[in-house]
Amino acid sequence: MRGSSMPDIGAKNELVVLDAIRNAPEGSSQSEVVRRSGLSRQAVSLITRRLMERGLVETDGTRGEGRGKPRTVLRVSPSSLLAAGVHLDPAGISLVMVDLGANVVAERAIGPPGTDPDAGVHRIAEGLEELLASLHGEGWHSPSGQRASDVLLGIGVAAPGGLDSRRGVLVDPPWMPGWWNSSLAEMLSHATGRPAVLDKDTNAALAAEIWAGDRLSEQTVLYIYVSAGIGSAVASRGRVQRGSTTQAGEIGHLPTGLDGPLCGCGRRACLSVFTDVRAMLSRFDAAGTGTGPGTTDPSEVADDGERLDALLAAATAGDPLGSQIAREHGTALGEALRTLIGIHDPHRVIIGGPYWRALEPLSMPHVLERAMQGNGGRRGVTISSSAFGDDVGAIGAATLYLGRELSPTVR
Ligand SMILES: [Zn+2]
Repeated sequence: MRGSSMPDIGAKNELVVLDAIRNAPEGSSQSEVVRRSGLSRQAVSLITRRLMERGLVETDGTRGEGRGKPRTVLRVSPSSLLAAGVHLDPAGISLVMVDLGANVVAERAIGPPGTDPDAGVHRIAEGLEELLASLHGEGWHSPSGQRASDVLLGIGVAAPGGLDSRRGVLVDPPWMPGWWNSSLAEMLSHATGRPAVLDKDTNAALAAEIWAGDRLSEQTVLYIYVSAGIGSAVASRGRVQRGSTTQAGEIGHLPTGLDGPLCGCGRRACLSVFTDVRAMLSRFDAAGTGTGPGTTDPSEVADDGERLDALLAAATAGDPLGSQIAREHGTALGEALRTLIGIHDPHRVIIGGPYWRALEPLSMPHVLERAMQGNGGRRGVTISSSAFGDDVGAIGAATLYLGRELSPTVR
């Protein structure tokens, strides 16, 4: 992947203008950019011309504004730049290439991480190289005619905590002991010749929403990430709050106030007791219900995602225990949200992550019912599901990189 000419994204005011244009998906007039950026009309005009010459911004017709003459609409040119996203998860590694609009232009899955980080990083680098080769093969090019490898800015990596995003080091993520204390960002950068950044999967998922969402970079957004475990992330005015050691948002042991068993941490009825997928599955299994054909023989045990699907299918078909487990997922998450909304006072709550799409139909009604009780409802906060699918970790990782390079506030 070496030998590319990196796009020259420099001056802070260029980023301010690009951000002002990018944050209006329906397009902005130059006057709107002046208003939102706080820069002078002359500066915006000059910078916009420069961004257009480089193919980052394009015009998109005209529209009327008040009684004046119609204004030219500016918008970012999505396919002018690319970023790579890597989601490193114990269940598997996903790779994507996304454009400036957070659209996936190429993707592939390359299996679980294994126990050797050197070999794993090598596979990731190879996989990214193959994605670029496939884009070259299909003739992908930017509006100014550059090939994918010429407009690829860099690589974002999302992984479960604990990790140190500042140093790019995986510290002690669960179920990946072989990778503990590996300098992943540096290793990947060395293997690919591209800059790389590392962050938690929860923060990456939130970054995807902010990058793609209408005006979310001007709001306080709380994200709930539903994976094997549960986590949260918060951003205020586009800036993700990571805490002092990238541990912010570890909400698994938040007390729910529900009637529930003692947790390993010593408290009763923690959120994770109801929302960790392994805990849900073992409750279902312990009752002798089983999770469908194929799970009796240990060699045929399906992965957790398939077993969860079986649990939810049973619940949908009226199985009492399955229904109770799914309902309690929503109730516990709703109670946790009620607390978190009180703490963070967000404009928006977004729920997503690899297992949310499967859980949403049965869980969301109870989430809304509980979370909206008391202050949550009165504040008018909106709670919705992410529009991104199961790939949100990888897409988010790529947008993390875009955010670091292209957002004036994120650096
Ligand atoms: Zn606990």
